[in-house]
Amino acid sequence: MTRAPIDARTRLVGVIGWPIEHSLSPAMHNAALAALGLNWRYVAMPVRPGEVTAAVRGMAALGFRGCNVTVPHKAAVLAELDAVARDAAVLGAANTLVMSRDAGGCRHIAGHNTDVAGFLGALRAGGCAPQGREAVVVGAGGAARAVVYGLLWAGAARVTVLNRTPARAERLAMELTPPQAEAIPPLEAGALTPAALVEAAQGADLLVNATTVGMWPQVDGSVWPEDVPVPAHLTVYDLVYNPLETRLLRQARAAGARALDGLGMLARQGALALDRWTDAALDVDAVTAQMEETCRRAIGASPRARRANPSTS
Ligand code: NAP
Repeated sequence: MTRAPIDARTRLVGVIGWPIEHSLSPAMHNAALAALGLNWRYVAMPVRPGEVTAAVRGMAALGFRGCNVTVPHKAAVLAELDAVARDAAVLGAANTLVMSRDAGGCRHIAGHNTDVAGFLGALRAGGCAPQGREAVVVGAGGAARAVVYGLLWAGAARVTVLNRTPARAERLAMELTPPQAEAIPPLEAGALTPAALVEAAQGADLLVNATTVGMWPQVDGSVWPEDVPVPAHLTVYDLVYNPLETRLLRQARAAGARALDGLGMLARQGALALDRWTDAALDVDAVTAQMEETCRRAIGASPRARRANPSTS
């Protein structure tokens, strides 16, 4: 694969976050851009909290095509946007900005949230279609919000959110409950305890870990209790991807349940962002597969190098 040399026509995209130096996105995107033969580069940009406005306006002024946004800036960037896609508006968080200029030269910045479609696409690619299914989501942070919204949007029959801090789960449920909810609310919230999790999982089809539990360096952690087998009928999706094989996924596989790691979501949200930036009609599945392979190699080669940043990008 020949990488186009950087010259006066090189287009820039990247990711802003704090910290950002352990991000997988530059490797993942630059490999994809090279494979597509595009004279583009993707850079990681450390942006301190409080400097988001200057960073976004600066990128637009410098002719960036867009950027990914990761922790802690996903909510703060909304104030800088001229247009906000529905997913990003409902979640109050954008992870992808698309920058353009109209014929008169006026800049336009649109915000999207590709985490939602990234999660759903990864789930489907793993053989689990959420429509009509019951799901248990553990966690109530930014990633859990995208997962819960995606499951509801995809027609899940019921979603139960369990979180260490139950008030946060209740707030999430209140904010994301569809206005047309009928007598049986599709979204319930509660405290994360081993008993509550085991009970909720018995009647569910899907269990999603959207917490940081099990992530490097706490690799011995699992939200699932050690003394209870994971129900074999479950699909278990762990958003954690460092390490790839979390203790929760080992528990699921040992019990015969389907176990899916978080790289599928990471790669697909990246491919969907790239699709929004480039005007080419991308084969999103093929780009996703390539990005996933790049990350799998990067993490396999050096799992500990990613320890400092729990964020998606
Ligand atoms: P976040 O907003 O900081 O939320 C963290 C969540 O983890 C909260 O619900 C928190 O509970 C819970 N938690 C932390 N420590 C816990 C413990 N010891 N026991 C039980 N619960 C605990 O983080 P986030 O952005 O949502 O990210 C969550 C995970 O998803 C991270 O591992 C991240 O890497 C991963 N992620 C992956 C992708 C992907 O593409 N695969 C995308 C986004 C995120 P409290 O509310 O009680 O603090």
